[in-house]
Amino acid sequence: MAEALDGTVAMVTGASSGIGEAASRALAARGAAVALVARRRDRLEKLAAQLEERGGSALVIPADVEVPDQAEAAVQHTVDELGRLDIMVNDAGVMLLGPALDAPLEEWSRMVSVNVLGLLQTTHAALPHLVHAAEDSPRRVADLVNIGSVAGRQARAGSAVYNLTKFGVRAFSEALRQEVTGRHVRVSVVEPGRVDTELQSHLRPEVREASMRRFEGVEPLKANDIAEAIEYIVTRPRHVAVNELLVRPTEQEG
Ligand code: NDP
Repeated sequence: MAEALDGTVAMVTGASSGIGEAASRALAARGAAVALVARRRDRLEKLAAQLEERGGSALVIPADVEVPDQAEAAVQHTVDELGRLDIMVNDAGVMLLGPALDAPLEEWSRMVSVNVLGLLQTTHAALPHLVHAAEDSPRRVADLVNIGSVAGRQARAGSAVYNLTKFGVRAFSEALRQEVTGRHVRVSVVEPGRVDTELQSHLRPEVREASMRRFEGVEPLKANDIAEAIEYIVTRPRHVAVNELLVRPTEQEG
C-alpha cells in the first residue's frame, strides 16, 4: 500500500533517543527516508539498522547541532545522499532546570546553544531545500516541525532559561511561518507536556527530585504520543497547516 510520505526525505535532530527517535520511526513507517542526527553514533546506527530491517531507509549523521559547521553539514549531507529535503524536525534539546540563583552558567549556555542556536543553525541550512521541495515535489508542500514545550507557553520559577529558549522557539516559528507559508512551507510547533524520556536524566539530583515531586501521580506521555502528533502534522493535505499542537498528559495541570 502506498504511504503518505513515500518518496520524501526527512531529517530529525535528536534522533538518538526519546521523541526524536520515536518520530524517526513514525516517519520511516509512513515511507520517508530519514536522516538521523545526534551526537551518539552508536544509538543512531542501531536505530538505522532497525528501520532498514522494516524496509525503511535511513542515513546516520553524527553531528553536534551546537557547532554551526556541523549543523550545516548535516543538512548538506542529507541532501547530497538522499537527494532532497521535504521534512525537517528540530527536536534536539536539553532541559537543565533549577533556581537561577547560583545556577551553573554553563547550563544556561548549553540550553541556549542547543535549544536556540542549534535549531536556528539547522533551520537556516534547511530552509532553501524546503522551499525547493515545496515547489517541485509530488506533495508540493514541505514541513518544518520545531519541538517547543509547555514551557514555551507558561513560565515557571525554576525554569527561567528553559522558558526563555522555548518561548523563543515559539516566537521564531510563528514569525518564520508568516514568511514562508505563501511558498507552501508549513512551520509547526509541537509543545509536549511531561514525556517519559532521558531528558530528566541530565538534571542535578536536587533539581530532579523537585521535578519528580511536581509530577507525582501524573502518568507521563510516551515519546510515541508526540511522534504521532508530528506524523499527523506532516501527513495533512497541502491546504492544511497545523501550526501548533499542545499535548499534555491528561493529569498534568500546569
Ligand atoms: P532526550 O534527552 O531523550 O532527547 C534529546 C535528544 O537531543 C537526544 O537525541 C540528544 O542526542 C539530542 N541532543 C542533545 N544535544 C545535542 C546536540 N548538541 N547536538 C545534537 N543532538 C543533541 O529528550 P526528549 O526526547 O524528551 O527531548 C526532545 C525534545 O523535546 C527537546 O527539545 C525537549 O526540550 C522537548 N520536550 C521534552 C519534554 C519531556 O518531558 N521529555 C517536554 C517538552 C518538550 P545526543 O545526546 O546523542 O546528541
